[in-house]
Amino acid sequence: MRQPQKGVRCARVLVELHCHSTCSDGATAPGEVGRRAAGRAPAVFALTDHDTCAGHAAAAAVMPGALRAVELTCHDERRSVHVLVYDVAGDARWAELEVLLAQQIAARRERMRAIAARLFHLGIVLDVEPILEAATRDHGRVVGRPDIANALVAQGTATSRDDAFARWLHDGGPADVPLARLGIADALAVVRAVGARASLAHPHQHGDRAGKLLRRFAKEGLDGVEAYYGRYDPGERARWLAVARALGLTATGGSDWHGEDGVQLGVEIPDDAGKALLAWLGRG
Ligand code: AMP
Ligand code: ZN
Ligand code: FE
Ligand code: FE
Repeated sequence: MRQPQKGVRCARVLVELHCHSTCSDGATAPGEVGRRAAGRAPAVFALTDHDTCAGHAAAAAVMPGALRAVELTCHDERRSVHVLVYDVAGDARWAELEVLLAQQIAARRERMRAIAARLFHLGIVLDVEPILEAATRDHGRVVGRPDIANALVAQGTATSRDDAFARWLHDGGPADVPLARLGIADALAVVRAVGARASLAHPHQHGDRAGKLLRRFAKEGLDGVEAYYGRYDPGERARWLAVARALGLTATGGSDWHGEDGVQLGVEIPDDAGKALLAWLGRG
């Protein structure tokens, strides 16, 4: 904690509302992410794996008070948009979001088989069933093209993951199979139905389009923006805080940790921003 400067009120609070485990593309098991979070004692914590909440129970077992959450992959005009969704209404209502996640996971698993079929026609034999079985054992981990790339490397068909993507798996590549896209409006309809909170993750990825996107969807349930993204410098934070203020959105914060060495979980935000955030999450 920084020392307050003379005459300047600068109390800070640690929050972590964006991090990943091995249930999606993180390097650390969900229980270990929870343990590390507990060691940092954030005011609020959520594990936000891509398109799955499978790690929540393991993280919450060691990090009491962990919010159930997910980083949903949505699409808007063919661009992908990551939306952080936080459960504030409880089990019975969240169930509908789990149905949506289960549909997405089933579509991903079928796509893995379709990619294997394409590879077969290209003369490459790859059995994806062991990948799917391993993912099921691993808390129902989300599967995708990186798993295929790893398997092609393991069996010696590709020299590296990048080689596998460059030759067969890149977008529109000979073995790529497009994934059914979840529209952001449809996703936000489910967010509203389950009484959850939603924040636009790493808004810089949308550049100048972020403001327009937020204006279009703010009234549909996208009422937060990740202004306190762990990798932002003060200037970038200020830019997104101004957007949040102008549109009446809550500023959320998280590190987007994927298991990187030397990076701590949690981001420090001003005390008043922390209070607003906790109130938004029903924890005020
Ligand atoms: P999927 O979710 O199955 O569509 O896979 C998306 C992931 O594949 C991305 O998050 C990247 O990690 C990886 N990926 C996509 N395109 C490429 C590429 N051209 N080269 C290397 N990795 C890629
Ligand atoms: Zn990720
Ligand atoms: Fe993301
Ligand atoms: Fe993320």
